[in-house]
Amino acid sequence: MIRIAKFCVINQNKVQNSIIQRCLSTTLIKYSKTVQNAEKTSSSPSEGYSFVTNIFRGQLESRQVFPYPNVLTEDQRETLQMLVDPVSKFFEMKKSLSALWELGAFGLQVPQDLGGLGLSNTQYARLVEIVGGHDLGVGITLGAHQSIGFKGILLVGTPEQKQKYLPRVTSGEFAAFCLTEPSSGSDAGSIKTRAELSPDGKHYILNGSKIWISNGGIAEIMTVFAQTPVTDPKTGKTVDKVSAFIVERSFGGVTSGPPEKKMGIKCSNTAEVYYDNVKIPVENLLGGLGNGFKVAMNILNNGRFGMAAALSGTMKACIKKATEFATQRKQFGQRIDNFGTIQEKLARMAMLQYITESMAYMISGNMDSGSQHYHLEAAISKCFASEAAWYVCDEAIQIMGGMGFMKETGLERVMRDLRIFRIFEGTNDILRLFVALTGIQYAGAHLKELQNAFKNPTANLGLIFEEASKE
Ligand SMILES: Cc1cc2nc3c(=O)[nH]c(=O)nc-3n(C[C@H](O)[C@H](O)[C@H](O)COP(=O)(O)OP(=O)(O)OC[C@H]3O[C@@H](n4cnc5c(N)ncnc54)[C@H](O)[C@@H]3O)c2cc1C
Repeated sequence: MIRIAKFCVINQNKVQNSIIQRCLSTTLIKYSKTVQNAEKTSSSPSEGYSFVTNIFRGQLESRQVFPYPNVLTEDQRETLQMLVDPVSKFFEMKKSLSALWELGAFGLQVPQDLGGLGLSNTQYARLVEIVGGHDLGVGITLGAHQSIGFKGILLVGTPEQKQKYLPRVTSGEFAAFCLTEPSSGSDAGSIKTRAELSPDGKHYILNGSKIWISNGGIAEIMTVFAQTPVTDPKTGKTVDKVSAFIVERSFGGVTSGPPEKKMGIKCSNTAEVYYDNVKIPVENLLGGLGNGFKVAMNILNNGRFGMAAALSGTMKACIKKATEFATQRKQFGQRIDNFGTIQEKLARMAMLQYITESMAYMISGNMDSGSQHYHLEAAISKCFASEAAWYVCDEAIQIMGGMGFMKETGLERVMRDLRIFRIFEGTNDILRLFVALTGIQYAGAHLKELQNAFKNPTANLGLIFEEASKE
């Protein structure tokens, strides 16, 4: 192990730099560093780090996975049970969205004293799993509102911001998360929308535009990201940094385009949003001046497990349809579920669903236990779930043959709805790079520590022996 460590130390910086330069934008590096900084706050080097991060240095950090987190109290289970039926019935009875508002489904994790249901991440996951099993378009309307739309207020809002806005977003006013622009998608740090402080220092004046914003045409309250001039108190130099703002449509100067015509999730509103000299009160700065990129990444990281939960519900629904068909349909004189090929397909579909669901609840459970180190796991769950769900839906269609291709079966809609999950909230390609880069940087930092230890071995015997004893 020590020999490998020495070899790696020599090559690691070279390899790391070339990989980074070849593959990654500065935004991605910044994103990875944001996570690394969050992880550095843990008390001991490996204690706080996640299971996946430690895998990059050959260390089995099992606390997040053994035992499997089981975090719900009896009370929480009961509350959840009381919500499961009405949410399922909403879809079975094809009610309007207002029924979901009445149920509290748009404020699942908002504290009860601010108008929400105060659910944990695990309870949230269970409910979005049901939604994902019925209608991903409704899922996106709900998710764009609470998983990203106002999540920033929940995570980093001041007490005053929470008091002012959370009761509103739980009682009928839609929220949206406004980051993407025509020239800035994956490279979110390159946005052009700007907010400048007014001469009297009371407002930020916002100008710019956003595209493909979920709930963009209907949101009253938006988390908007914009470049702001930030002066470094040490150097006196002013540079542009992204800041986050809570923007109300009622401030004036906020308009939106018509609903986009999309491949799927058609019931979810997606629109452009324009900001023309919008006066944002200074108290609506969210998370501090220049911290907007960190706020955006925290929001996205925090909500990703929800996608895995929703898609595990979608996969269950696909498997159910395929199984029902396979156990009824006869060809060559027998039910098609007798054929090995069909059995193998169903087995693979069940495996993918099982893994996805296990990941979703493991992450939500760890988050509920207070872990701050779930970013890589959350990214992995989003990539895995979106690709697994696509495969499962495709195989369900295959099992159903021509019937699977018919609209009335409902799977063609699911397939169209599923396609976006590999693209938004960080494309799977970018998230893969993020996982690799973060892992490489962590392993690299550890190897550097080992390299320094070798310079003064007598003072660092503990670390060297610990490393040497690893297989
Ligand atoms: C229906 C829908 C809803 C959306 N909702 C919202 C919303 O609510 N709020 C919001 O802010 N945004 C939203 N978006 C935007 C979405 O998040 C972006 O589309 C996504 O981040 C990707 O950006 P892009 O489309 O500009 O692709 P680009 O960033 O232009 O990427 C194009 C391709 O290049 C790849 N690529 C880019 N950089 C690299 C790299 N360094 N290495 C390897 N490959 C790379 C990408 O993976 C992708 O395959 C939504 C989009 C859609 C379609």
